[in-house]
Amino acid sequence: MAGLRPALVLGLDGATFDVIHPLVAAGRLPTLARMLAEGAAAPLPSTVPAMTFPAWSALLTGRSPGEHGLFDFTQKVPGRYRVAFTNATHRAGTTLFRRVADAGGAVLALGMPTTFPPEALPGLQVCGFDAPVSRGTNDRSVSDPDLYARVASTAGPWMVPDLDEGASGDAWHERALEVLLARIARKQAFALEALARLRAQGDDPTLMCVVFSESDTVCHHFWRDHDPASPRHDPAAPARRRDAVALVYERLDEACGALREAFGRKRPCIVVSDHGAGGAARRVVHLNRRLERCGLLTRRPRGGLEPWARRARDTALRLLPAGAAEAVFRRFRPAAARVESAARFGGFDWSATAAFSEEVNTQPGVWINLAGREAAGCVPAADYEATRDRVIAALRDWTLAGGQPVIARARRREDVYTGAFVDRAPEIVVELGDEDGYLLSLVATPWDRDPEPVRTLEDDELAGGRGRGMNGTHRSSGVWIETGGGLAPPLPRSIVDAHGRVLAALGLAAAAAPGPGDAAPPEAAYTAAEEAEVRDRLRRLGYLE
Ligand SMILES: [Zn+2]
Repeated sequence: MAGLRPALVLGLDGATFDVIHPLVAAGRLPTLARMLAEGAAAPLPSTVPAMTFPAWSALLTGRSPGEHGLFDFTQKVPGRYRVAFTNATHRAGTTLFRRVADAGGAVLALGMPTTFPPEALPGLQVCGFDAPVSRGTNDRSVSDPDLYARVASTAGPWMVPDLDEGASGDAWHERALEVLLARIARKQAFALEALARLRAQGDDPTLMCVVFSESDTVCHHFWRDHDPASPRHDPAAPARRRDAVALVYERLDEACGALREAFGRKRPCIVVSDHGAGGAARRVVHLNRRLERCGLLTRRPRGGLEPWARRARDTALRLLPAGAAEAVFRRFRPAAARVESAARFGGFDWSATAAFSEEVNTQPGVWINLAGREAAGCVPAADYEATRDRVIAALRDWTLAGGQPVIARARRREDVYTGAFVDRAPEIVVELGDEDGYLLSLVATPWDRDPEPVRTLEDDELAGGRGRGMNGTHRSSGVWIETGGGLAPPLPRSIVDAHGRVLAALGLAAAAAPGPGDAAPPEAAYTAAEEAEVRDRLRRLGYLE
């Protein structure tokens, strides 16, 4: 353990200085205020896309998405009109946790996304929300089930399925806020209990890393209440809903204070987020509809079967007694990835489709239907670049009624990424435009409603939910706050760079640079049941339609 120094890393998913600075000024975040006064801080640029999986993976490995290989919750399967749910085995690079363990230190890692399946580490690792947790944290998502059970017997489970974020309505928001506050309290208690038990068994963690997802969740659902200038703002919102973002940040500040105190106030402490947060515009965007209008995508005449089938199934389930519905659902539910694939790619006439999008706001992009590569590809290799140029032109020339660009940037993937995994990214990487600082949201085209490519939400749709996007969305600029490390400037310039800063605080040498022959470890696919649970979890979080 020569040279190893203990450090505390507190991850606040989606935290932004746009919320922190005014609350610090108002005296509502005493822990962060003290850290800002004692230490150093800077905005932390995220990855492209500015999303949870690629960004936390960048912090964990010191690699960009093209180098570590994890771009989103799902990954298009090469050559097929299918997606698979991703996990830590899709990623290359060595994690911070492994580095500490290899140097002889113990690790306490709680709630970090993209860590499923857990690594065998001295200490305790409890995976983040991407673990199959529909029924709460289970043995498969923790590194030491015995220790986990002992901690949970005192502090309660790390995660329980207590909130369906696919739902909406005022009563839902009132309940959601209370659930988020209770969750932070439970995670704080779990972390303190786990730390105490590890110390009692002689495994004082060198690296304690706790990630709270509640800062992200509250901004997705309450940004419009927090921000009176939001185009989705509801002036009739009750005071507690308007204060929800602040209340969650306040509770997180309290948890950070308690964890810092327990870990050791004089030890280095870092507060970091994977990306920032901000408001969503009132308009949503249907990318495949745009491609269709530009002659790049063709629907089959009877392409509306999938929504019809879904509605029929839902109706049938409502008419069955609960127990029977459960049995029917289990028996007939196909693997979740197949359902997800059908929702994204169903109904296209592949023989007349040159380009298509997965239409996910988490990774906006366009694929080319290349002959010889895709299962029913129709674009000859000789036309590949010209087709990409046509797509980029179709996106660049797309404007809102007021003349603002719908798409801020559309770039060839090799102009965005470097590394061994560039071909996992969509061939055209898209960044959506904004209206006065409020970002447009990419929403799957509801073909059965014959929509325009850009849709303005109705008054009763502004809170968000299925087909409406969320009222708060991600921004690139996250946060970095460090104190107690005695490290020399400069502060990290990006979340990729932040990996090295954490290593330096721990007394470890910088990571080896990625090489040309890099490969991810053998991929461990989820079982069908786990895929269904992951899909359900992501749907509840509002990331899947
Ligand atoms: Zn995130």
